[in-house]
Amino acid sequence: MSYTQRVLDELKERYADEQPEFIQAATEVLETIQPALDAHPEYEQAGLLERLVEPERVIQFRVPWTDDENKVHVNRGWRVEYNSAIGPYKGGIRFNPTVTLGMLKFLGFEQTFKNSLTTLPMGGGKGGSDFDPKGKSNMEIMRFCQSFMTELSRHIGPDTDVPAGDLGVGGREVAYMFGQYKRLRNEFTGTLTGKGLSFGGSLARTEATGYGLVYLVGEYLASKWDSFLGKTVVVHGSGNVAIYAVKKAEELGATVVACSDTKGWVYDAEGLSVEALEAIYAAKRSGNDKGVSLEKYLEYRPKAEYHAEDGRGVWGVKCDIALPCARENTLHLEDAEKLVANGCKIVGEGANMPTTLEATKYLQQNGVAFFPGKAANAGGVAVSGLEMSQNAGHISWTFEEVDGRLQEIMKSIFHAIDGAARACDMEGDYVAGANIAGFLKVADAMMAQGIV
Ligand code: NAP
Repeated sequence: MSYTQRVLDELKERYADEQPEFIQAATEVLETIQPALDAHPEYEQAGLLERLVEPERVIQFRVPWTDDENKVHVNRGWRVEYNSAIGPYKGGIRFNPTVTLGMLKFLGFEQTFKNSLTTLPMGGGKGGSDFDPKGKSNMEIMRFCQSFMTELSRHIGPDTDVPAGDLGVGGREVAYMFGQYKRLRNEFTGTLTGKGLSFGGSLARTEATGYGLVYLVGEYLASKWDSFLGKTVVVHGSGNVAIYAVKKAEELGATVVACSDTKGWVYDAEGLSVEALEAIYAAKRSGNDKGVSLEKYLEYRPKAEYHAEDGRGVWGVKCDIALPCARENTLHLEDAEKLVANGCKIVGEGANMPTTLEATKYLQQNGVAFFPGKAANAGGVAVSGLEMSQNAGHISWTFEEVDGRLQEIMKSIFHAIDGAARACDMEGDYVAGANIAGFLKVADAMMAQGIV
């Protein structure tokens, strides 16, 4: 039995029942890095994989808060400090009722390799709460964020652990958490990223993940003497990542014809209106209009179609490029079959693990160039890393400077994953390429630092 299989079997025995997403992520990584392990037999002797799959530290805490009627609520909060071999723990905070420890372990594990791919010195972490920010007032959000940070503040710091936003945590929530951190610790440091521009945030962070996704796919296209010009694109989701992926793809000459939210999806043959999507996104986040959905898009573009059904309907729309940008496990095998049947040639994951393992394999077996989230959506954390650098140097760069660095990082990620796949005779397998390239840097640092 191979080293990876043995470690995977042990993990399944321990966690399969309670942490299915974590097992899914670990399976994807471990199944593809065997060539790297074959080249380094010393890793097994050092118990490297056994150490890599266990987080260095997991913090769990209660988050008590009061709503606007003075009713007390208690949520669960976590921070998973996964791996600090190459830098301080770095990764977002997610507020969503579906958050569990297993979900955060999957995200923190993925983040470790993603951060490694960015070429910046960042370890992997992830945190969150099962709090549902939807429909909450601004004051309720503030009180929740303050309570969450009251506990988290003891565990983080600019050289220890640097959280950021994720699902349900945008600029507003990061600002509330930063305010509370600063108050408790009496220090103004870059401990959180995704901050507002007036207090240490970086230009282009808002756009970074969506833009970065398009830059990476664009670099792949360029390697084939092709580009986004004239391509038809379909996006799943209509949040932060989706909106800026739409914007950049359209700027580069593509027509993005469909996107979705949790209530339905829209089809706009003329190309989606970014202004409309931004307005709907802002309305959702204001909390003032509790029923708002993508149906509102028709008020901006009456000729578009709205389908009040599962947003996965977008996968039935004919396209050249598909960009899943909503959340995990939202592109299933039957969706992959539709994409292939309709001639889709590229899938780039803007979200974390939106494609199921079966769907990924089907796409790859049918000649689709598939870019996993840990490479394709690394632009967000890359610009977070640039925010840390700006904070540490007490400077701020222009939008163009940050965007330029982002483009260079995404290009280098494409070439790193392409090169790693080729080096293992797996040309075109960007899942293996991303896992191997991300893994080797972390493994090298862990080996150098001894059994810790
Ligand atoms: P967001 O702004 O909250 O947007 C999420 C979008 O996905 C919304 O349109 C939401 O619809 C939709 N959605 C949520 N759950 C869904 C489901 N079960 N089925 C269909 N659609 C669903 O979040 P985001 O920042 O764009 O992040 C999206 C994904 O990218 C997440 O996986 C996140 O971890 C990953 N990611 C984000 C960043 C970043 O910088 N933001 C960086 C790296 C990775 P509603 O509006 O109806 O809720």
